[in-house]
Amino acid sequence: MNYRHAYHAGNFADVFKHCLMVGLFRSLQRKGAGFLFVDTHAGRGSYDLQGAASGSTLPREPEWPNGIGRLCSAGAPPAPVADYLRVARAFDLGRGGPGGEPRHYPGSPALAAALARPQDRLELWERQPDECAALRSEMAGRPRTAVHEADGYGALRACLPPAERRALVLIDPPFEAQGEWALIQGALSEGLSRFATGVYAVWHPVSERAGGGDFPSWAGGLGAPVLHVTLLGPPKVMGMRGCGVYVVNPPWQFEDEARLTAGFLSGALYRAGEAQASIRWISPR
Ligand code: SAM
Repeated sequence: MNYRHAYHAGNFADVFKHCLMVGLFRSLQRKGAGFLFVDTHAGRGSYDLQGAASGSTLPREPEWPNGIGRLCSAGAPPAPVADYLRVARAFDLGRGGPGGEPRHYPGSPALAAALARPQDRLELWERQPDECAALRSEMAGRPRTAVHEADGYGALRACLPPAERRALVLIDPPFEAQGEWALIQGALSEGLSRFATGVYAVWHPVSERAGGGDFPSWAGGLGAPVLHVTLLGPPKVMGMRGCGVYVVNPPWQFEDEARLTAGFLSGALYRAGEAQASIRWISPR
């Protein structure tokens, strides 16, 4: 497995996913009771964006300038995007970033750690040993936080149902291996059978290689409401044209926030008319 998220950290797909994740966190935090956050594919926790330009053997074009970099100079974001930017900037400054151009980027675990209240709990799963070691040190000493070096698809069996009776599960695989959609389906079926009222967010790339065209009809049969939010750039023969997030059991009002977020990002991260955002119910409430 060669995937290293550091090369992609802070790119348009991270920005999109993390804006939606912050919105989901805030929705669950409208109630005072704590909840469990499960990150099945957590990565190393946070990323030094200066390292994003050096590949393992050759220099690489960093991806963050077209993601968080562009967003930092975009005017007047709507509330959900402004919220994400505030958290990302505070993280960067807290790590000694110079301000202005971002230097330290919070991955989903660092974002969760910044957002979690004392009553919320984090279960973070990462299979790659070096990434997991970095994640462990990122989270060292943090209360109510467990880090597991293991297959994240096993997290749904291990962590659900949660003692809190409330949960947000982020499934964010690298889509390197064949059969990722089948693994996602297995995990979601297991998760919903163990904990039907959990909120499950599944990130996916839109590319020929990733496929996934059958997933909506499968998800439509889950017996739970499913919302699909996508951000698409110009058509590409190779590579990732865009990405999407399926949200099973989306919280009340999340649809409106997701529409604002995706609509704003399609204008802020692309040239005029180049991208489109869409939001649709695969299976309604
Ligand atoms: N969720 C992270 C974030 O938003 O900052 C990014 C995660 S990255 C897209 C995917 C991660 O999954 C990589 O760090 C990879 O090592 C890890 N991974 C791949 N297969 C895995 C598996 N079966 N279980 C757990 N982690 C896995």
